[in-house]
Amino acid sequence: MSLLRATLVLTSQQCKLARRAQTQLAPAVLRLYTTDEKSKALDVSRIRNIGISAHIDSGKTTLTERVLYYTGRIEAMHEVKGKDQVGATMDFMELERQRGITIQSAATYTEWKDYNINIIDTPGHVDFTIEVERALRVLDGAVLVLCAVGGVQSQTLTVNRQMKRYSVPCLGFINKLDRQGANPERVLNQMRSKLNHNAAFVQLPIGLEAKTKGIVDLVHRRAIYFDGTDGAQLRYEDVPGDMRAQVEDRRQELIEHLSNVDEQLGEMFLLEEVPSEEQIHAAIRRQCIARSFTPVFVGTALKNKGIQPLLDGVLSYLPDPTEVQNYALDESRDEKERILMDPARDASNPFVGLAFKLEAGRFGQLTYMRVYQGYMKKGDVIHNVRTGKRIKVPRLVRMHANEMEDVSEVFAGDICAMFGVDCSSGDSFVSTPKLQLSMESIHVPDAVISLSIKPEDKGQLDNFSKGIARFTREDPTFRVHFDDESKETIASGMGELHLDVYAQRMASEYKCKCVLGKPKVAFRESIMSPVQFDFLHKKQSGGSGQYGRVVGVLEPLPPSSYTKLEFSDETVGTNVPKQYVPSVERGFRMACEKGLLSGQKIAGVRFRLQDGANHAVDSSDYSFQRAAEGALKEAMDDAVKVILEPIMSVEVTAPNEFQGAVIAGINKRNGLIQGQDGSEGYFTLYTEVPLNNMFGYSTELRSCTEGKGEYAMEYCRYQHASAETQEQIIREYMEATGQLKEDKKSGKKKARN
Ligand code: GDP
Repeated sequence: MSLLRATLVLTSQQCKLARRAQTQLAPAVLRLYTTDEKSKALDVSRIRNIGISAHIDSGKTTLTERVLYYTGRIEAMHEVKGKDQVGATMDFMELERQRGITIQSAATYTEWKDYNINIIDTPGHVDFTIEVERALRVLDGAVLVLCAVGGVQSQTLTVNRQMKRYSVPCLGFINKLDRQGANPERVLNQMRSKLNHNAAFVQLPIGLEAKTKGIVDLVHRRAIYFDGTDGAQLRYEDVPGDMRAQVEDRRQELIEHLSNVDEQLGEMFLLEEVPSEEQIHAAIRRQCIARSFTPVFVGTALKNKGIQPLLDGVLSYLPDPTEVQNYALDESRDEKERILMDPARDASNPFVGLAFKLEAGRFGQLTYMRVYQGYMKKGDVIHNVRTGKRIKVPRLVRMHANEMEDVSEVFAGDICAMFGVDCSSGDSFVSTPKLQLSMESIHVPDAVISLSIKPEDKGQLDNFSKGIARFTREDPTFRVHFDDESKETIASGMGELHLDVYAQRMASEYKCKCVLGKPKVAFRESIMSPVQFDFLHKKQSGGSGQYGRVVGVLEPLPPSSYTKLEFSDETVGTNVPKQYVPSVERGFRMACEKGLLSGQKIAGVRFRLQDGANHAVDSSDYSFQRAAEGALKEAMDDAVKVILEPIMSVEVTAPNEFQGAVIAGINKRNGLIQGQDGSEGYFTLYTEVPLNNMFGYSTELRSCTEGKGEYAMEYCRYQHASAETQEQIIREYMEATGQLKEDKKSGKKKARN
């Protein structure tokens, strides 16, 4: 045991006594900490907060499992996909076991070579991107896992885009070298061409497919073999003779790719100086953190090869929390100022943390938190910036899949979990209410699809409500409301599968099977050009009177604000007394809940209140609210209306021979082709398609590409729906509300007025 690393955990009393004794020992022979001092003493450069992102089935769960095994957090490795009953440790939700995909991220803490690693297992499916986004928001770096056969797949593109959005540096790991058809070189080329990474190998495989023996570390020019049944013993040897030339070529390629972006190495390259191993290391680290270079590792998680060197790579090349800049927004000012967080791990700065995930598990409600500044200990009082509520920090834990470990305090850079804290995901916490700091809000897209949901058995209503309450708090993209008119509970979210998974979780976790209605796209109603309004709400016969008049303009917003509603008070004088202005705004917003044309929400409009009138006795909040509602209806009646619909970015990848069929299919669905690229016999089509036209696309794609095509879909924006779609949904709405009557002579249906 190394003397310097010997650490005893003692109570403070024991510590005092021991310190006295220690003075008699040689200094620096033994360091003594209390538990608290131990975490304080932890050097922030020894913390890594990482995510593992991948296309589904690339081996992310298997890799995480191996990482936990080699770092000593679990005692045995399990096969994913239910070959044994236990299942992978990270896959603790029953549904995940059934589906074999990781839907819900679990934060896991582990240690490797005296470094603290927090791993957030990020979900891989496109419909659960909010989970990926959240994970990426709180992490400092990521490992992008790719399959050596499948290469860059649809979901890889999505997570790559998200990593870019949150500027997350990453390492590439090409997994499944042992699979038949493994071709890491092809995958590297795809990383360059499809993901636009300045990527190069830092390792090479020794043998492929069934002959995968080990890997070569290019920087140190050495071979690494993984001995023992579990691959835990590393054996270092010289590079095999037949690989020497290849190793030199690839090492040179690595240096060239680095030199292109790194000033120091670039200069040496020009002067034809040979960089040392340390200089190459340092350049990889600098450029990886700057996101201008991606080092590519190789291995096979299933056959236990390449995991430990990948972990070394995480320590060497991914940033510690001080190397990433995090900003909070000052909510106390109108012009929100961005404030840089100080990552010092002490009490010199006020505490700022972000609750990034809620989970109601068997131990009660757990709130996952990332600390961005200062520190917090058990028993401290912290404040929720959004609600203003104060909470006393209850039990603090670190999570290991679904097990936990108590800690007494946490510092900037840490990821921890708290018990029994009432909040929503995305809430920021600070140490003093004076500080109105919130971490940048998590990018929450608008829901694009909705359907009715109800329990199969009415007796399960209680469980149903509990489940809905939990899921909506955990996932801001999953929303549920009761529709008064249809008397139905409506769930809305980011795609059919998104909603489907919650229905399944309801059955598996809350014993409440659900009946789902037909999915509906979230259309919006808007206007084409400004219209004036002048509306008087007056009721002055009998009882207390009502009087309010509002005058102004309703105008359309630009396309970037199609999902928004804006209100501006441009009144001068007291015709509309200031105290009633909020009621006018309320009336306007309420009236926008339901448009007359299609029953969908009104959006993309600005209500400019310019004038009005009041009555000394009869005016009230209520009268002005009603006046605004009336004004909006009047304006909408007069306006040229338009239906807006959600447009999705759709990326389709398939073998070249199916290109014609795929393009025809996209055209048929009114898709707009934005671009295309391809390599190695595959093409990728970048298109934008109305969500309303995407129903049934997965079946169609499967059948027109013999099952070889794949697609990924992400919400892009709202835009004017085609005339055909507009006509169809207006007609459907009129039929549903009885506004169409049968024209007896022609047999055609006709609008009533
Ligand atoms: P995830 O969906 O990305 O979490 O992937 P999983 O870890 O669930 O793996 C998907 C499948 O690939 C499982 O059947 C694994 O056993 C298998 N798998 C994972 N890693 C490897 C590997 O290195 N080689 C081979 N041949 N199969 C692997």
